[in-house]
Amino acid sequence: MKDSFQLYLRLLAYIKPYWRVSALSMLTMAAVALLNPLMGQQMKFLVDDVLIAKDQDALLRVMLMLIGIVVCKSLAEYASSVASQWVANKAVEDLRRFVFEHHMRLPFSSVQAQTSGRMLSRVTYDIPQVGTALSNAWIIVIQDTLTVLALLGWLLYNAWHLTLIIIATGPVIAWIIRKASTGMRTSNRAQQTTMGEMTSTVEEQLAGLREIKIFGTQQHEANRFADIATRLRKETMRVVRISAANVPMVQVLAFTAVAGVLYAAGRLAASGQLTPGDLMAYVTVTSLIFEPIRRLTNINATIQRGLAGAQSIFELLDMEPEVDSGTQQIERARGEIRFENVSFAYPGQDTPAVNDLSLTIAPGETVAFVGASGSGKTTLMALVARFFEIQSGRILIDGIAVQDMPLTTLRSQLALVGQHAALFDDSVGHNIAYGRQGADMSEIETAASQAHAMEFISKLNQGFDTRIGTNGNQLSGGQRQRLAIARAFLKNAPILLLDEATSALDNESERVVREALVELRRDRTVLVVAHRLTTIRDANRIVVMERGRIVEIGNHEQLVNANGAYARLLASGEDIVEDAGAGAVSEMQMFNETVARG
Ligand code: ADP
Ligand code: MG
Repeated sequence: MKDSFQLYLRLLAYIKPYWRVSALSMLTMAAVALLNPLMGQQMKFLVDDVLIAKDQDALLRVMLMLIGIVVCKSLAEYASSVASQWVANKAVEDLRRFVFEHHMRLPFSSVQAQTSGRMLSRVTYDIPQVGTALSNAWIIVIQDTLTVLALLGWLLYNAWHLTLIIIATGPVIAWIIRKASTGMRTSNRAQQTTMGEMTSTVEEQLAGLREIKIFGTQQHEANRFADIATRLRKETMRVVRISAANVPMVQVLAFTAVAGVLYAAGRLAASGQLTPGDLMAYVTVTSLIFEPIRRLTNINATIQRGLAGAQSIFELLDMEPEVDSGTQQIERARGEIRFENVSFAYPGQDTPAVNDLSLTIAPGETVAFVGASGSGKTTLMALVARFFEIQSGRILIDGIAVQDMPLTTLRSQLALVGQHAALFDDSVGHNIAYGRQGADMSEIETAASQAHAMEFISKLNQGFDTRIGTNGNQLSGGQRQRLAIARAFLKNAPILLLDEATSALDNESERVVREALVELRRDRTVLVVAHRLTTIRDANRIVVMERGRIVEIGNHEQLVNANGAYARLLASGEDIVEDAGAGAVSEMQMFNETVARG
């Protein structure tokens, strides 16, 4: 209970900016509540003045008053409903924005710890539930509580001994509600997790549709989804059962109380202690109490769902963002990168992905990283960009540790062309412009032609304005890569991190992409995870990695002659591929012969 209270207090902070409208909605709710006992009062006049005293003027007056009360009450109800929904939807909008923004500031280690489905269902499913708890629930809790209090107040004032009967049921009702809350909160949390799983599964289905079709695993996926859907139904029904049981229990209790009041009032009226009008008023007022009490018990389900949603949202908002405490500014780095005894293990893993690694890369140098899959090449690049925090050692750019620079300063020095360029469902032009905010059209065109992307962009129906579909699925692998390269040209950062694609490209696109990359590498410090022989040969130095360590450094000839790890890699032919095009094959044969001779 204390827990819920604190959650609610924290939620209230999101309503605070809109306190004026909140106050307005409270006022209108109070008006609704206070107008209720007036109805009972009029019923007394109807019986005592009109029916018994036979006063025709009073009849008209009572009727006009009743209509007036109902009109005012309806207007107030409309205003309170719109005002509180407005506040709640503002809070929902804010929460959605905060969650989205906060998620972008989280370090990869935290992002990785949760599924993307969970994140999606937070925004789409949990937050609206908080909104409902803030709007509907809020109206009902406040308005109905006030109504009950106003009616009770009227009853107490007019006949306190009758009212005690109703008040006596209070503790029992409270006990029922409390019992139900605990059960519902647990089930709601389970429901949220399942909802996240469901979102994940749909996401995976969308992304893996090719695999699903080609491996014929439709049935397997359908079963997996059906399991989740069933689980979700069961969890939902658990909440439904608890909340449905709640209502009749309270209903019986409340009606018994009302019957008790009727009985007592009837006895008093019979013995002349109450006028018939008083009796009528009591009956009206006690029957008015009945509905808000029923609603109040029912709303508990909504509140518990909202609180469970709030809990999950606050969990996310409480995650620490990326540490960004560096203050050393640099304009444009010369591009010297130094690794000093760098060690890093992914969260929850014992073996380090990068192990006590030291290396100095001169400005303008191109260093190719080769090594078996899993040797830590991609990780090393990620560490330069500070996507993860190293556990020991230092990484310095132009002599400044990456932690000592603001993240934006650090990352503005880096351009990243990865194996899977993330494209957005927008025009080609906007996707390239992602490389630098505020770039103008001529700069975008220059970047596109430098990246050899003009060749295909000019053939698109709407040129730069062509939309490329979710994650660029209307483009080929080579075209996507060239857009990524165009972005890097546009960004024009002094350091280029390149994670080379292996066999994703056909020969022709591979040739074009390679040519584009040759230009991009000019006058920059380049760290390239290389799989192609030409890239490797073009590099000033080759770094051979094994299990997070450097095992060899040198140029191609040196390493071939050393006949060590590099030579073995070449011979295995798994991690280094020959290039497309006629010349490459014979070159490859030459190397193999060299290796054989050496
Ligand atoms: P490479 O790029 O050389 O193939 P990686 O740098 O991707 O190697 O991986 C190095 C090691 O770290 C591997 O053992 C891999 O399993 C592990 N690893 C890579 N990425 C992650 C991650 N996001 N979370 C946990 N472990 C990871
Ligand atoms: Mg890799």
